[in-house]
Amino acid sequence: MQAHTKAPRRRVLLLATGGTIAGAGPAAAGTGSAAYDSAVVPVQQLLAQVPGLDALAHVAAEQLLQIDSVDFIDALLLQLARRVAGACRQSEVDGVVVLHGTDTLQETAFFLHLTLPTDKPVVLTGAMRAGTALSADGPANVADAVALAAHPDSAGRGVLVTLGGEIFSGRDVAKTRAQGPAAFSSPHGSLGWMADGAPRWYRRVDRPHTLHSEFNIETMDALPLVGVVTSHGNMRTEVFDAWVAAGARAIVFAAFGGGTVPSYLLPELADVSARGVVLVRASRTGCGLVLRNATADDAHGWVAAADHGPTQARLLAALALTRSADPLHVQAVFDRY
Ligand code: ASP
Repeated sequence: MQAHTKAPRRRVLLLATGGTIAGAGPAAAGTGSAAYDSAVVPVQQLLAQVPGLDALAHVAAEQLLQIDSVDFIDALLLQLARRVAGACRQSEVDGVVVLHGTDTLQETAFFLHLTLPTDKPVVLTGAMRAGTALSADGPANVADAVALAAHPDSAGRGVLVTLGGEIFSGRDVAKTRAQGPAAFSSPHGSLGWMADGAPRWYRRVDRPHTLHSEFNIETMDALPLVGVVTSHGNMRTEVFDAWVAAGARAIVFAAFGGGTVPSYLLPELADVSARGVVLVRASRTGCGLVLRNATADDAHGWVAAADHGPTQARLLAALALTRSADPLHVQAVFDRY
């Protein structure tokens, strides 16, 4: 008779940082209510609202931060990334879950995706409704995130994000709706779905990340300052000058359509480059490519952001600048990642 040995229960470290998932408000508030305080419920209390968590994995929890994610400045991003990298180095951690506010979750996921030297599963989740709202989505998202982080097939796929049962890549996920539990999407679609406590995979990201990225949080002290300016009718040049005066090393211009620059801004943006600040052309549309020397002449020393939206482009430019400020190097980074 064959002896069946049960696989040991996987160990997941859960790092809580605040957000609506740790929010609370009046118990009678409806599903769309904004009448709650974000980042107030301690992680242990939050986990007590997730039935069956113990069956999914052995979960150790830590309250790393308790903030609204709109307050995620770069110093906190680096702090979180270092903590996750440290956890991944420990043999007693099989996977990490980060509970995060949804407003800047895409920035954190993208940064971790490119800077964590690990192939262990790292999964971010949050909630669109506070725990006190009708149909709060936090408990199910936590259960999915823990199951995903505990699953051996989640390894080596880069940083993952799960909300509303979908699994996205940290490379290109974005919050694209202001309300409702299905607020996240990617121009390239999801990687898979959670079903019965396990991931079902349909796609893989083809661009380098985590162990195969040239960027490593362990060798990084601070991020160069990069600003974002969004296009609109009747723009002024002063906003670019303000970023240059603030010490920005790059400015991401969330330009029109495929990266089109208004004619009246061309001299200003050429001057930004002449002053040694890298100008990255992205698109304000949320989907599609900004290609080099298409819709604008990048010979000025500009960089085309390809499919990266403005929030990801800010971080990718900052990472590229930790290596070199040569616009051609920055362009090569955008082309590769
Ligand atoms: N403002 C909140 C945050 O990002 C929103 C949320 O978590 O859904 O922290």
